Amino acid sequence: MSLGEGSTPLIRANRISERLGLDVYLKLESMNPTASFKDRGMTIAVSKALEERVQVVICASTGNTAASAATYAARAGLATVILQPAGAVALGKLAQARAVGAQVMEVRGNFDQALAAARELAARGTHALVNSLNPYRLEGQKTAAFEIVEELGAPPDVLALPYGGGGNTRAYGIGFDEWGAGTPLILAGEAQDRGGTVASAIRITEPVHRKYAQRAIEGSGGATVTLTDDAILAAWRELAEREGVFCEPSSAASLAVLSQSDILKGSVAVCIVTGHGLKDPRTVERSTLPPIQVDPEPDAIAEAAIGT
Ligand SMILES: *Cc1c(COP(=O)(O)O)cnc(C)c1O
Repeated sequence: MSLGEGSTPLIRANRISERLGLDVYLKLESMNPTASFKDRGMTIAVSKALEERVQVVICASTGNTAASAATYAARAGLATVILQPAGAVALGKLAQARAVGAQVMEVRGNFDQALAAARELAARGTHALVNSLNPYRLEGQKTAAFEIVEELGAPPDVLALPYGGGGNTRAYGIGFDEWGAGTPLILAGEAQDRGGTVASAIRITEPVHRKYAQRAIEGSGGATVTLTDDAILAAWRELAEREGVFCEPSSAASLAVLSQSDILKGSVAVCIVTGHGLKDPRTVERSTLPPIQVDPEPDAIAEAAIGT
């Protein structure tokens, strides 16, 4: 069960490297088939659902997990049920799930109640639960660590990534560990306002993988870094404007972490760009200037362009 996930580009961020005095690379997980790293784990979770002859894939999410689950299930010929708390809709992500035919249900309740119901159905054996509790997902996600070491020839000195539920942090820890060439310092960026941050993919108050994620971070000599929304949005803008990398806000937590940490000059640092900017067009509407009105006259256009 594959859509060609993984083997994502690792590009050097030349201008950011110069500003920080570091050797910064961006791992573009936004270039996966559904435009987030979730595909790495979902390919295995859905393959296993097929193997176990389950007919329906279920998850409680409004985000990238839902988009990825729905897409892989569609390709596998399985039905998908997405449970979402009423009102908590992420525009691009929900569009992806609907486009591939997932059944999106608004639950009259909160996220935890939706997840509890999904777990109950999974326990009955009729539905495969593909939330991050699904153990196969980490096995897929760890492969990103392998790719980084293969491409750089050695583990980087620093790995920076957003920290929501902590599954991805944990998966990188496993990946570098299994490769056996050493683990970079892991710097995990979490939102100061975990419950209400602009970075919706890390808007998680109770990280499911906290214990293991903390162990990976501390074992690497790294740290959990708390980020304000302003810091996340500044990094989001810098990635777009200075490197041409348009990501969703949560992904920019990786660069925000580098910007506010004291790292030895010249270190090799990899930022994980977890999801694409088109997932969340509302942030662009809120955080950039709107188009300006202009007459179709060369002089007027040239003048207006100088003014911006
Ligand atoms: C899921 C997700 C995260 C958070 O990953 P965790 O494994 O929950 O820590 C960050 N960014 C994006 C774009 C995501 O989809």
